Amino acid sequence: MRILISNDDGIEAEGINQLRLFLQEDHELFVVAPDRERSASGHKITMDRPLRVKERTYPGSRTQGWAVDGTPADCVKLGLEALVPGPPDLVIAGINFGPNLGTDVLYSGTVSAALEGLINGVPAIAISLASYEYYDFSEAGKLIRELVTKLGKEITQNSLLNINIPPCRPRGIKVTKLGNRRYINIFDKRIDPRGKVYFWMGGEPFDKDEEDPDTDVWAVREGYASITPLHFDLTAHVNIGNLKTMIKKLEG
Ligand code: MN
Repeated sequence: MRILISNDDGIEAEGINQLRLFLQEDHELFVVAPDRERSASGHKITMDRPLRVKERTYPGSRTQGWAVDGTPADCVKLGLEALVPGPPDLVIAGINFGPNLGTDVLYSGTVSAALEGLINGVPAIAISLASYEYYDFSEAGKLIRELVTKLGKEITQNSLLNINIPPCRPRGIKVTKLGNRRYINIFDKRIDPRGKVYFWMGGEPFDKDEEDPDTDVWAVREGYASITPLHFDLTAHVNIGNLKTMIKKLEG
């Protein structure tokens, strides 16, 4: 398959490098990724300035790469429209260093890179290592290689697959829905050298209260690899009928 690879940790990140190495033997790869870390940049695109692109080669492989001074969504958009010769079969974003679980997918540059593929009609996968302390990408690499090489792009069923790998050998694979991931101690209030107050956003994830075993948060916490199919259609379909009735009443 022809695969466009991107991420939000930057083109030099270990995760994207591992992803490339795990896939390069069986697939034709094109890397289009930010020239620096752009984590938590969501789906931002750059319209107020030009995008600069730097070509990148990978000695000993036929993979072509480009570093872009834009966001993850910029990279995939630019890759599909201008850089990759011909449409790819699949977009894969990752392997992200850190989890992308629950509502965090809305802030995630990794998930946004994959979504940009889906928006443009290309099936996509986002894959993340759900830890900030564990540096072994091999279980994530092996799983993505299995999924892509054995099942092909049909595995995505024209949605986006959001995959999270626990920081251990997974006990198995669970197909999940987005769970609840709360944060505590989000803002640190500090005083700058001139006596002015400022806030630094951080926060510790608190996922102990997610008890639904069908969720991504539960699966990863219990040591499973989690696969959640996502779509950019945020419509609350269950509410459409009720809302129609209410608006009809209003119109009398
Ligand atoms: Mn990241």
